[in-house]
Amino acid sequence: MEQESGLGYSFHDLRKMPGHMHRNIKDVQIIGFCSAKSMVELTCHILENSKLLKCLKLSTCYNGEILCSYNNNGKCLPMSRGMMMEAHKALLAVERYILGKVPSTVELKVEEPCGRCNALVS
Ligand SMILES: [Zn+2]
Repeated sequence: MEQESGLGYSFHDLRKMPGHMHRNIKDVQIIGFCSAKSMVELTCHILENSKLLKCLKLSTCYNGEILCSYNNNGKCLPMSRGMMMEAHKALLAVERYILGKVPSTVELKVEEPCGRCNALVS
């Protein structure tokens, strides 16, 4: 419950955007997805208005290349506590505002910080 208020806005605060953009996109990747209201609004907007959308990928890491699977030394770049907290909030925002809007035709992929190198503090 504490975390609810931590996001600072409710589902009903989310604005609607005019629905004329993004009609024909099939694959969307948002890098640096965060819990900011405008980011959530944009994501909902894409889900509601992209009739051909097949895959939506939200990356809560700022840069996918920092992950250990891509890194020569086998370790992720360490994330600051602030970045970890933001990634955690971003995941909450996905659960709360976005999961329910994903049509069954769309595959949602959420990329979170690596649990091995940058385990989320809950
Ligand atoms: Zn890692």
